[in-house]
Amino acid sequence: MKYTFLFLLISCLIYFSCDKKEEYYLQPINNKIVLTIVNFNDVDKEQISLVKTILEERFIIDTILFTERKLPKNSFYSPKNRYRADSILYFLDKEFHTQKTIAVTAKDISTSLGKNHDWGILGLAFSPGKSAIVSNYRIKNKSENSILEKERFSKVVLHEFGHTFGLKHCKNSETCLMRAAEESVNNIDQLKDFCDVCRSKIKKHLKY
Ligand SMILES: [Zn+2]
Ligand SMILES: [Zn+2]
Repeated sequence: MKYTFLFLLISCLIYFSCDKKEEYYLQPINNKIVLTIVNFNDVDKEQISLVKTILEERFIIDTILFTERKLPKNSFYSPKNRYRADSILYFLDKEFHTQKTIAVTAKDISTSLGKNHDWGILGLAFSPGKSAIVSNYRIKNKSENSILEKERFSKVVLHEFGHTFGLKHCKNSETCLMRAAEESVNNIDQLKDFCDVCRSKIKKHLKY
């Protein structure tokens, strides 16, 4: 399987692009999504509930399953005491068989990025694909208060979930959720919603 990387935040959001047919994911047989939300045993119920609310607000969801797991041991990267997001995605794809899976962790996650073997990120998703992982670690550390933290976390969840439908980084709008913000977690604050172009690509799955 061939993967290429595109980047959202230089130190943060990244998605995988794989060579499966994009159309399949943009137009699945059933527009109502069956989703698994995975808690990697380290975030509180309020945060899991927030993920549920965020996705239910925007996407046409049929069923949500909830489960807890331990972070896979083979994803641990001891030199930097954090977890490899790409390994986590492979684990999620193998372990869960719902149309989509989104996992949440409070631990720091990373992936390879250009010359950087291990680069800290906020989230990663197969694009198009089934699985996404979002970490609150960097968002929490860089947010002045819990309201800002929740706002930023919500946007990252929508961004990564958007990748799973094959959406790529967007240059159509300064405020599109799929925009490749750069350099700082603060840049998430200018993102508001999916732009018209991105929305049109996933409209079958959106409530509005
Ligand atoms: Zn991205
Ligand atoms: Zn867009």
